[in-house]
Amino acid sequence: REAEAWEARFDEARTRDGHRVEVAANLGNTAHAADAVARGAEGIGLLRTEFLFMAHAKLPDLDTQIAEYREALDALDGRPLVARTLDVGGDKPLPYWPVPQEANPFLGLRGIRLTLTRPEVLETQLRALLMAAAGKPLRIMLPMVKDVAEFRTARQIVDRLLEEIPAEQRASDLQLGVMIEVPSCALLAPSLAAEVDFFSVGTNDLTQYTLAIDRDHPQLSAQADGLHPAVLRLIEMTVQAAHAHGKWVGVCGELASDATAVPVLVGLGIDELSVSARQVPLVKARLREFDCEEARTQAGLALAQATSEAVRNVLEVR
Ligand code: PEP
Ligand code: MG
Repeated sequence: REAEAWEARFDEARTRDGHRVEVAANLGNTAHAADAVARGAEGIGLLRTEFLFMAHAKLPDLDTQIAEYREALDALDGRPLVARTLDVGGDKPLPYWPVPQEANPFLGLRGIRLTLTRPEVLETQLRALLMAAAGKPLRIMLPMVKDVAEFRTARQIVDRLLEEIPAEQRASDLQLGVMIEVPSCALLAPSLAAEVDFFSVGTNDLTQYTLAIDRDHPQLSAQADGLHPAVLRLIEMTVQAAHAHGKWVGVCGELASDATAVPVLVGLGIDELSVSARQVPLVKARLREFDCEEARTQAGLALAQATSEAVRNVLEVR
């Protein structure tokens, strides 16, 4: 099976009845973009730019960032790049950006909340992304957004940059989206869907915050299963709101490469899966194994269960 999946890695992934689902790769290092393409990735669905910042001893300046983002864009050769703005705090401290001691770092200054405390840092990053993508399409994604107000604040910075930077020096076509990883965002997806260009569901954090289980907890993290029906309902709400506004929805958390979850996610209407580069051929192969009706049946069955164990029991025997 693996050999077959590898052989077909450059083919688009379509369900048995021809429904296309994009399969992209998650990336933490722009130098690995070429490898992701060689493994069949149709784009980068999540560039975790915080790893780029962590590799430096101080905030990387505009030119340093442009050079690194350009490395990924060059390797992608026109394929889409979804670059997530700096997502530190919580489990990912940045030594040169100390955050006051917090009792609950995962509920504290992280992601967009942290970067909005120093908007000039966010602005430099956004400028670097826009300029690195000169003449090319670009997708920028904001992490840990909890409601439309945070999105609007970031949108204002982006809009100002789009006016400031001459058109030929910046991305030709920009999509600005948000990660769905805080339950409030899924619950309020209709209000966000009207304003964003896309959503990408971060099931790692969405599961953590929905089930109130620390994703790294040694005793509890095994219970943090993204196939929990409560998480699936939030994904369903997100997709319905997005599609009602003609916006696309990806999944970039671990759940996107779970063989049991793939048909459920497709059944819920997910348009793109972003997984580790190594998983790309296997996820594509998994997508070719079922049709949309089966996917919808599996999603319906999963949503009707009361626990993640029940979801796995009912799906895995099939
Ligand atoms: C997620 O939360 O699912 C996600 C993709 O982001 P990260 O794992 O980097 O927090
Ligand atoms: Mg996350």
